[in-house]
Amino acid sequence: MELLTIGAFARAARLSPKALRLYDELGLLRPAEVDPVSGYRRYAAGQLERARLVAWLRRLGMPLARIRSVLALEPGAAAVEVAAYWERVRAETEARRQLAAFLVDHLSGRSTTMEHTTGALRVAYAAGSDRGLVRERNDDCAYAGPGLVAVADGMGPQGGGQQAGEAAIAALRGLEAPAGELLNALEDALAGLDAEVGAASGLPGAGTTLTAVLWSGSQLALVHIGDSRAYLLRDGELLRITHDHTLVQSMVDEGRLTLAEAASHPQRTLLVRALTGSGDSRPDVSLHAARPGDRYLLCSDGLSRWAAEEQLHAVLAAAPDPAEAVRRLIALAHGAGAPDNVACAVADVLPGVAGAQAATG
Ligand code: MN
Repeated sequence: MELLTIGAFARAARLSPKALRLYDELGLLRPAEVDPVSGYRRYAAGQLERARLVAWLRRLGMPLARIRSVLALEPGAAAVEVAAYWERVRAETEARRQLAAFLVDHLSGRSTTMEHTTGALRVAYAAGSDRGLVRERNDDCAYAGPGLVAVADGMGPQGGGQQAGEAAIAALRGLEAPAGELLNALEDALAGLDAEVGAASGLPGAGTTLTAVLWSGSQLALVHIGDSRAYLLRDGELLRITHDHTLVQSMVDEGRLTLAEAASHPQRTLLVRALTGSGDSRPDVSLHAARPGDRYLLCSDGLSRWAAEEQLHAVLAAAPDPAEAVRRLIALAHGAGAPDNVACAVADVLPGVAGAQAATG
């Protein structure tokens, strides 16, 4: 077998000798031979393909630990793993893109200008919750009021779930965000939210999901943890804008399960994240550009699990106002047998401006 020196192999693989030494230490790519006296590493020509794959995956930004697991897979399974990795990068980049756009506006003073010209957002809203046809108790909560719409799906014994859900929503209701400070105010409020929820329910095993839309001035933010969902109807299209924090969704993300398999998986309701009072759970939070004509739907899984997305779309597109949309959505869950509690909230971003600020701006 012809062996290459580390320098020759590095040139052929387009990796540095330093990188090759690191990959050896991490067990990613062992030299074919290490001279017992000099310690010189030599590589076989047949190892080039593996080395190039490592180099390509590094260029993709994949962490070394994840590369090691890709290298251990058959090509087909490795392809699925790379696709899953890229989907996650894409989702994270999208969240960061929104934050970057907000910061550019903020730092260039455009957000201030925007508030003077467009004034505060005007939003119409409604919310409703229903026990359904099977459950004995309603542990879902829904809220709609000035500056906030929210749903929470509580879980746990003796009504603790409902207390947890109500506490989570109450914490956001009291939020005071000065103009342009919504994100900062939220970050502060969410830091202690999980512990607050735990203290409010007072029962071990109680917890809740929380999905909320908040607005202040011209800013609109989304808060989300668990498997309740937020959808956005914009330009006639319905988009889901939250990611389920469920075990099956993470298996789909990792390429270990298809969407169809996830829908019938025995553990499909198992959450990987929720507010459980342990003190270390924290919802995702993001700012969104609000556009007149946008309609937001927040709902618990008691609606999204039993109604098809096309049905939600049809109701949201046709209902004349949020209150009517909420009535029709709860009727939709009943039409599917309403096996679970249902909560939903609908918020419309209205055209035009809100009085005082616009009149002076
Ligand atoms: Mn539920």
